[in-house]
Amino acid sequence: MTVRTRFAPSPTGYLHIGGVRTALFNWLFAKGQGGQFILRVDDTDQQRNVEAALEPILHGFRWLGLDWDEGPQVGGPHGPYYQSQRAEKYQATVDALLASGAAYRDFASTEEIQAEREQAQQNGTHFTYSRRWMAETEAEAEKFQAEGRQGVVRLKMPREGELVLQDLVRGEVRFQWAGEQDHVIQRADGSCLYHLATVVDDQDMQITHVIRAEEHLSNTPRQVFIAQQLGYSPPEFAHLPYVAEPGSKNKLSKRKLDKYLKNRDFAQLKKHGEAIAERLQMAVDADMFNPVIVDFYEQIGFLPDAVLNYLLLLGWSLDDQTEEFSRAEMIEHFSLERVNKAPASFDPQKLWSFQDRAMQQLPTKQKVARVLPFLQKSGYVADPPPCDTGPYLAKIVEAAGDRIKVAGDILDYADFFTTDDSLVYEQKTLDKRLRNAEGAADLLTRFSQQLAETEPFEPETLERELKAFVETEGIKIGQIIHALRVAITGKAVGFGMFETLAILGRERCLARIERALAE
Ligand code: GLU
Repeated sequence: MTVRTRFAPSPTGYLHIGGVRTALFNWLFAKGQGGQFILRVDDTDQQRNVEAALEPILHGFRWLGLDWDEGPQVGGPHGPYYQSQRAEKYQATVDALLASGAAYRDFASTEEIQAEREQAQQNGTHFTYSRRWMAETEAEAEKFQAEGRQGVVRLKMPREGELVLQDLVRGEVRFQWAGEQDHVIQRADGSCLYHLATVVDDQDMQITHVIRAEEHLSNTPRQVFIAQQLGYSPPEFAHLPYVAEPGSKNKLSKRKLDKYLKNRDFAQLKKHGEAIAERLQMAVDADMFNPVIVDFYEQIGFLPDAVLNYLLLLGWSLDDQTEEFSRAEMIEHFSLERVNKAPASFDPQKLWSFQDRAMQQLPTKQKVARVLPFLQKSGYVADPPPCDTGPYLAKIVEAAGDRIKVAGDILDYADFFTTDDSLVYEQKTLDKRLRNAEGAADLLTRFSQQLAETEPFEPETLERELKAFVETEGIKIGQIIHALRVAITGKAVGFGMFETLAILGRERCLARIERALAE
């Protein structure tokens, strides 16, 4: 039997970090078993623009490298993969359930059902629908219709006994049928509900394992009931604990951003992102530029592998020790048995530590490929880039070392790409270090004359040159280096002075010094 898993997002317009964790576990399980991973669009609650609302979700999956074997954009033999295009199949299933007596047409009004519910509440009993408006024959249905009533289709659920389920994460779970309701599967307007659709689709798409968020656990009995009534053998189920918010056990939600910003690490992550967005002059939607949404990480230049590695450990562990997993290792080791039963809190600091490590291990060439689009987006480098950009950028990322935590941090070093007459000086720094520092301008002028002749223009020789200069002039190194830095970079801080000079090259350095002196 080929293992087939699926992730079934509703087209909400964004990809939630918790959703990705669920999708990742489905993907890993399928890959590890040599199986297939299917994407299916749960758009039974038809939205007007499904494609637009689905796009960020598919985009997020592509960015993360979670490819799907069947589904939107790739097709497959079990399509269509949009529930909104499968109405005929659902209708046929409703008809079959009606014919076998597993479902019935019901003509109660919402108020009548509500009245029964309230009565049960008053009596302190569990609400069980009286089935008073159930139509078992066509004649009964016509009678109700003649009264102007509209009918829905309900499941005729068992009212005694229990369902025992072997959940692959939670173990044995027991449900009392008496605790269930006669759930609606088709509305008066003919549209079908998710519970029916999901069973039909899982069967048609030959899904063997349903791995999904625990909030669906309570939906499982009615889905198993439908499957059994249709003679299907239900898939295996694995209900994953949800991803909890930082520092608590509540479910992580996109809507509680204000609350999460009280958490220092969360706020720092968001702030880091905002600084990059500002440099990119990116208009951010306050609601969507949110670390609960995957897009945020792409926009500021996280590495997809770091995000996935972090999410893997958010609810799963190999041995409570190993933290670092390549994609191949994730696939090799992942198992449903080692999924935790308790929710795991989203921890921005830990996510950073995965990102830091992945970034440090990334070969320079790949780092260059990651940072380049940020320089292009912000207009510092043309697209396509001039041919010497790669080697130039390689020197910068190497000199920057672990200062580049996410790819967008390259914008801190955009002064390397700024033409000399567009370099912006921090006025306060320029005043303090050059204009108002006694003797600084003279020293800088004299040192620049030496720079004009330094050979080779490399960090080691430049360092020797400066030391010699300091000695001959009888000054402290601070008297020249601060003035030099602000003249070259426009700022007070940056990475190694000699590397900076060497990367920029002689012509640029001399031009910048000249301009700073004239400012
Ligand atoms: N569309 C549902 C959700 O996003 C899918 C539930 C399921 O996996 O059965 O929660």
